[in-house]
Amino acid sequence: MTPTLLQADSLAVMAGELAYHAATHSKPHSPQMHLVPAGSATQLFLANGSRLHSISDETAATLKQLQEQKNEAAITATLAALGLDAPPAIDDTPLKNPKTYALSLAIAQKCNMGCAYCYADQGDFGGPIKNMPLTTAKRSIDLLLADCTAGSKVQLTFLGGEPLVNRKALREATQYASEQGKLKNVQVNFSITTNGTLLKADDAAFFEQHGFAVTISLDGIGEQHDRLRPLKNGSGTYAQIIENIQPLLQMQRKMQVSARVTVTPLNMDLAQTLQEFIGMGFHSVGFSPLLRSSNGQGEMTQQDLEQMLQGMIACGLLFEQHVLAGKRFPFLNMVNALKEIAKGTHRPYPCGAGAGYMGVSADGELAACHRFVNEPAGRMGSLDNGVDHTLQNNWLATRHVHQQQPCNQCWARYLCGGGCHHEVLEKGRTACDYIRGWLHYTIQAHARITRLAPHWYK
Ligand code: SF4
Ligand code: SF4
Repeated sequence: MTPTLLQADSLAVMAGELAYHAATHSKPHSPQMHLVPAGSATQLFLANGSRLHSISDETAATLKQLQEQKNEAAITATLAALGLDAPPAIDDTPLKNPKTYALSLAIAQKCNMGCAYCYADQGDFGGPIKNMPLTTAKRSIDLLLADCTAGSKVQLTFLGGEPLVNRKALREATQYASEQGKLKNVQVNFSITTNGTLLKADDAAFFEQHGFAVTISLDGIGEQHDRLRPLKNGSGTYAQIIENIQPLLQMQRKMQVSARVTVTPLNMDLAQTLQEFIGMGFHSVGFSPLLRSSNGQGEMTQQDLEQMLQGMIACGLLFEQHVLAGKRFPFLNMVNALKEIAKGTHRPYPCGAGAGYMGVSADGELAACHRFVNEPAGRMGSLDNGVDHTLQNNWLATRHVHQQQPCNQCWARYLCGGGCHHEVLEKGRTACDYIRGWLHYTIQAHARITRLAPHWYK
């Protein structure tokens, strides 16, 4: 399926064909299973436990027919006869009082940029601009470490706005977390998402010292990025960011520097962007569609998402080529999807929001995640009063994927988890065809890589 070398034209043609196939063959027909034609054998994906099996043409034809007849009882019986039945890997019981293992601090609820689509209303989350005081950051860290046992790990993330607006508190909080972690024999992993415009050379040494995962928001190459991510005065930022990140890219050892691209209708050249950024030396590059913005600008329509699927598959084909040639190609979405498919990831939630992960506002209010800062729908308590377990458990009961429609009828539900809570609550489920199309393609790619380059998984 994958040729040894693809030129841009043939890459686009092949990606177009695969995207069309994925879009038309990934619709939800049965909540129990999904059939994925993949070369000489069909892959049977079982929702329960996210299990994959190669099946014969005859079995595939039988299951396809039963699926078209919507005969779920006969599908259940056929799977049992094949020895593929199993007790439910996930039941209706929601998580209860989970321990917090990750916090993101809105260390600065302000930003120097004026991105049209910003989920945080240009950094202030719809309220007055403010920095998080160091005392609030330290109290957050105390909460994070409170019940940790020796040998465990926690995650501390700095977000904004633009977190480097409040560099002093960020550094002192990092130092504090590092010291407190050592005292308790708890490993604290640090991460930051930054727009890159305020980075200074000595930030690189600081992030390297503490082993930060640094994510730089970049929305394309040159002018494409500048149109989407200007300063508040409208001037471009790309050239400055690229200059600023050079010390980080060169210094990364313990530190990992990744690029994150928010995809809007204005920056759909994904394969070109991916190759450019990987060529610059980023540890990984990932794409995420803009499904909801605070002012509606830049949101992706169904047609845009169809186009994006094609672009993602083009990137996936490039990934496959490199893997077959034994070369590293850190396309993050693909790496994550393949690992999850190989592992049989199955989860009742899309992410840790409101469970093990919470966001903290500059005022010390707890939220289900960074996007719910200042939003009543995601309130989770406060540093003053601790996690509000009534709010948290209610959230976990209502956000369980079995409670979501139409997720409980969707074959992809335990890989997807029901979609980002914030986007779903604000906009509904607008990206399901895109999600299923991408998973359909990555299951095919998994079958190819398992056959042709199994060493990649090691
Ligand atoms: S959000 Fe995910 S699980 Fe729910 S219907 Fe859409 S693709 Fe399926
Ligand atoms: S709710 Fe959405 S934005 Fe928040 S952590 Fe989950 S996926 Fe991310």
